Parts: sequence; C-alpha cells; structure tokens
Amino acid sequence: MPDDARCPCLSGDAYGACCGPVHSGDRPAVTAEALMRSRYSAYAVGHEAWLRASWHPRTRPASLDLDDDVTWRRLDIVGTRAGGPFDEQGEVEFAAWWRSATTGERGRLHEVSRFVRGPAPRPGERGPWLYVDGDVQP
Ligand SMILES: [Zn+2]
Repeated sequence: MPDDARCPCLSGDAYGACCGPVHSGDRPAVTAEALMRSRYSAYAVGHEAWLRASWHPRTRPASLDLDDDVTWRRLDIVGTRAGGPFDEQGEVEFAAWWRSATTGERGRLHEVSRFVRGPAPRPGERGPWLYVDGDVQP
C-alpha cells in the first residue's frame, strides 16, 4: 500500500502517517486503539506477519488463514476502556464491515477486543501492545 494512500483504518490520515509505520516496526502503537487500527489495516491489506507479531503468544493461532475473498470496507471504533500510553491493559470495542467478492454478501463484525502490554524491550521502557482475544457481540 502506498504511503500517500488513505489508511484502510479510515482514521483520515495517510497510510504512511498512520498504520504504515506500525506495520513496518518503525513506530510502536502508542495506544491499544492504535494497535487495533493497525490490525484491522493488516487484515485489509493482507499483512499476515503483522497480525502474528501483534498477537499475544498465549492466544496466537498456529496458522492464520486470511480469506482472500473477503474485503474489509470500513472500521468504526465504538469505544475504548483504558489502553492508553500509561496503561498495562485495555479494551477496544469496534465494528468492522466486510464484503465477499464472489457472493457479494456483506456483514459486520462487532467485537470487544482485549489488549495487554508485552515485555518491555529495555528496562524503563514500555512493552508493546498485544492483542489477546475478543468477545464477538450480537
Ligand atoms: Zn491507520
């Protein structure tokens, strides 16, 4: 995805100023919401390596099978709880809209995701946000 393209997470920023540097490891996600956005964008662009890297080792699936047929169309952040720069855990509630290329079927995934910080890379620093799991909402 070009740096000057609109970021798939629909933050309003360009990819190169939003989820791009998070995907490349140039800039950590400062908040749980930023990590959530980067993971949504990774699904949207098929960035499997980032999905794995941002998944807590305890809950990370052995293999990830991204569905090429599904395009992710829109992300709405419904709400957040904690997950800020000085928090150790957080929750992000979101709705993500998808569409199937072959059937034209559309749907919405509504989930409350849980995030925690991983180990700090160096003493005195904060660990990176990691996705743990989520509860799909009706
Ligand atoms: Zn983004």
